[in-house]
Amino acid sequence: MKLVRFRYQNAVRLGVLRDEATVAPLSEVYRGSMAAFLSEGTPALQHARETLERESVPLSEVQLLAPIADPPKILCVGQNYRDHCEEQNQPIPERPILFSKYATAINDPEGTIPLLPGISDQIDYEAELAVVIGKQGRHIPETAAMEYVAGYLCANDVTARDIQYGDKQWVRGKTPDGFFPIGPYLVTTDEIPDPHALDISLTLNGNVMQRSNTSNLIFRIPYLISYFSRTITLQPGDILSTGTPGGVGVFRKPPIFLKAGDVVEVTIQGLGTLRNFVHNPPQA
Ligand code: MG
Repeated sequence: MKLVRFRYQNAVRLGVLRDEATVAPLSEVYRGSMAAFLSEGTPALQHARETLERESVPLSEVQLLAPIADPPKILCVGQNYRDHCEEQNQPIPERPILFSKYATAINDPEGTIPLLPGISDQIDYEAELAVVIGKQGRHIPETAAMEYVAGYLCANDVTARDIQYGDKQWVRGKTPDGFFPIGPYLVTTDEIPDPHALDISLTLNGNVMQRSNTSNLIFRIPYLISYFSRTITLQPGDILSTGTPGGVGVFRKPPIFLKAGDVVEVTIQGLGTLRNFVHNPPQA
């Protein structure tokens, strides 16, 4: 199933994509909270499947939103593709490099990535496969880790490089408001039998900047889930973004950074295309 969150007639609802043109709304009891929906586990997914048989609204009448707006946590992995390590002359990490983004960074499909005039002039893109956690767990063994996955989505780990490197600590450069577009769908695991065999690419104004396959992940999803859950309780709705392949703007010669008017698209096999527009923020 492709789970979506959308605005329709001034209300935010969850739904299931029925086909290319229609979406079936889920019960209003979830109040547009994907984390609340996922925390109900199997009965909620069953409700979603049954909903597909009932009413639906035209996709053209809804505005798709980020599938999750209220993740308990956003966990991100740095330097998790070999070619991305090589382009920055970094050794392959011996263990996963964890950093965080905050929910205030979440941005919608077709949403605007706001530039930071006067604060940063090195804003960069990062196409990533993000994993959504469906079940609470701690000390999850690698062999059981995939049972904790609800689904997958496209993510863009937008980054202000000058802040990231200038701070010598990544968080501030990684999580300005609007710097984590996700979507357009949360695709449940039944549609993605092998998340480590998905083509992933990013285009900037139609030009391919990143192209890889999730088979090239250094630390794979079961390992990451097991590793992080040794120290952190994973919760329904948590987002785990698995890292970006080579081809980011900062390591190009010459470097390329996002500018007003740019269109950035992340496409992952089976997960659709996440498109965003880059603009200066409206004057305060
Ligand atoms: Mg990243």
